[in-house]
Formats: sequence, structure tokens, C-alpha cells
Amino acid sequence: MYVTPPGELGELFPNEPGYRMDQLVEWLYTHPVMSSGDMMNLPTEMRQQVARSHWPFSLEIEQSADGGLTKKWLFKCEDGSSIETVLMGYQTRTTLCISSQVGCAMGCTFCATGQFGFDRHLNAGEIVAQVAYANAYLAENPLPRSPARVTNVVFMGMGEPLANYTHTIEAIRRMTGLMELSARSITVSTVGFVPGMKKLTDDPLPLNLAVSLHSTIPSERSKLVPINDRYPIDDVVAAAKDYYVRKGRRISLEWTLIAGENDSDEEAVGLARVAREIQAHVNVIALNPTPLSTDLPPSRDHIRRFLGTLRREGANVTLRDTRGQDIDAACGQLRLRTEG
Ligand code: SAH
Ligand code: SF4
Repeated sequence: MYVTPPGELGELFPNEPGYRMDQLVEWLYTHPVMSSGDMMNLPTEMRQQVARSHWPFSLEIEQSADGGLTKKWLFKCEDGSSIETVLMGYQTRTTLCISSQVGCAMGCTFCATGQFGFDRHLNAGEIVAQVAYANAYLAENPLPRSPARVTNVVFMGMGEPLANYTHTIEAIRRMTGLMELSARSITVSTVGFVPGMKKLTDDPLPLNLAVSLHSTIPSERSKLVPINDRYPIDDVVAAAKDYYVRKGRRISLEWTLIAGENDSDEEAVGLARVAREIQAHVNVIALNPTPLSTDLPPSRDHIRRFLGTLRREGANVTLRDTRGQDIDAACGQLRLRTEG
């Protein structure tokens, strides 16, 4: 049902009056339910037809961590591909980390999704259904002491959302139009896919943009992030600055810290310079090791030193918590474990 745009649902039910479609949209998007049997005000035949294609995927694995505050789902799509979604409860927000592609073509060396290669884009329905599923789940199983509804969405699961621009933006429009999410609570994370960053700058939605930098030294960045050869760091920073200036939305810079790769003082100074230049906030996350690489996170002391240098150089920094590490909750890792 999510694969069909909301405005075209009527074509699936030619004999039903228009107001039924409003009711259906409400059940699919605004107050989603796990089973069409719970769509109280719809006639039985309609519920049965919905049941046959309600979700575009089925739940393959559910895992729980952090005392029930983190849930991780592996979904199987209709063509057999698997995608990951992670739900994280905090005191004032409930954040959902969603996937935008099956695999990823960008090939970042430290990323389980990148190591897997690219399979296909997710369509808008498959993207938005991850949010609907989480809301249907939360209605029945709220996380401890957290809002019983998705309040924030981050595109930090599998895939490069800006390389799948059309479906990503369509999914976001449904989230903001029908699912009570504001664009200000949605974050698109990009490896620096410049053409997509430019399109997003031209779109009026006040979305948050996170840019995964990982290095400001061109040769080093190309090693970690091969797409840097096509969209070099200077162009990425210029596109990020343009986004900030034209939209007035502060950028965040993501930095996965890898021992011996991008954790030197020189890198910290370079990162702080970029952060100051575009008034960005820096999120550092220690590498979550993946099975296909020997890379490791730096020691605790070294991480502290890196953060200290950044702060001394005038950057605003947060060390991101690594939620759900014991359930392989970093991008692509659960799928890697089950398939690979
Ligand atoms: N393709 C987009 C969004 C998905 S990746 C992007 O790269 O921004 C989301 C974030 O997860 C990125 O910042 C990425 O650097 C980070 N990430 C990927 N693999 C990781 C790992 N093994 N450990 C820690 N962070 C990782
Ligand atoms: Fe793709 Fe992001 Fe992983 Fe890089 S870090 S391979 S861009 S998903």
C-alpha cells in the first residue's frame, strides 16, 4: 500500500467512495496499525484487500539492546533484499534511523553497507513504510520513558539518500505532509554527493543536513571515501556552506574516527577549520568495527585527545553514543552477519 502514492490509492479501490481513501491514508500514514484488521472504520473486503499488500516488506529479525531503548529490525523486501532500520528512545525524542538503498555504491572502506556494494534504490514507499512500521510498533510497544511516536528521522541506515534523490524527497514529503513530522526533525546524511546536495539546497523544505567528512586531506579522504575522487572535499564543503547560507539550517559534520587513519592532530585541526568556516556542528563517532576490514577505533584516551584538539581549535563537538553496538546496529552490519 505504501508503494502506491497516497493520491493514487483510489485506483486500487475503484468501487469505494472518496472519503474511504482519506480513512485509509489515515491508517497507513497518520495513525498506522500493524494489521489491517485494526482499520476499524473500513469495510471488511477493503481490509482484506489491504492485508494482501499492506507492508512492502516483512520482518526478518528483531533485536533489542540498551535496556529496551534500542530496537533493530531487519526487513525482507518483496524481491528478497534485506534492509535495516534502527529505533532509539531518548527522554524527549524517539529517533528512527532509516535506509534509503539496498547496499551502497559509494564504497567507503569502513562501512559494512559499502563493503557489500550496491543492489538497488529503495522506492519512496519502502522508505516511508519504515517510519509507518515504527509508529505502528510504538503504538503497541512504547520504549521505556520515550515518546510513543517517531519524533525524529535520520537517513543514516543503509545507502546514500542523495544518490536516490527522487524517492528520498517523495518519502520526506509524505512524512511531513501526512505523518506529523516536521522537516526540522528530519536529517538527511550524505557522504558528500554534491549534485544531490545542490538539489536539496533548492528545495524549500528546512531539512537538517549531515555531511560525512571523515578526512579533510584529499588523498586520505579518497582512501576512506572513494567517491571523493568524483566529488572532491572542496566541492563538498562549498555545497555544505551554500546549504547553510541559503537555508539558514546549521550543518552537522560526521566523522567516524578510525585508529591511525583520520585521528591525527593534523586531521583535528583541518576538521575544526572547516567547522568554523561553515559554522557547523561536529559529530564524532568511534568506528564500529566491521568483519570485512581490520580497521579499529582509537583508544579512549586518543579519542579524548582528538576531541580536545577540536575544541581548542574552536569547533563545537559532540561524541555520538554508539547505540546498540552489541546488536550490530551500525549501518549494514546486521545484514552482513545474516547474509555474509
Ligand atoms: N550514506 C550516508 C548515510 C548512511 S551512513 C552517509 O555516508 O552519510 C550514516 C553514517 O554512518 C555515516 O556518517 C557513516 O560514516 C557512518 N558509519 C558507517 N559505517 C560505520 C562504522 N562501521 N562505524 C561507525 N560509523 C559508521
Ligand atoms: Fe554508503 Fe554512507 Fe556507507 Fe559510505 S558510509 S558506503 S556513503 S552508506
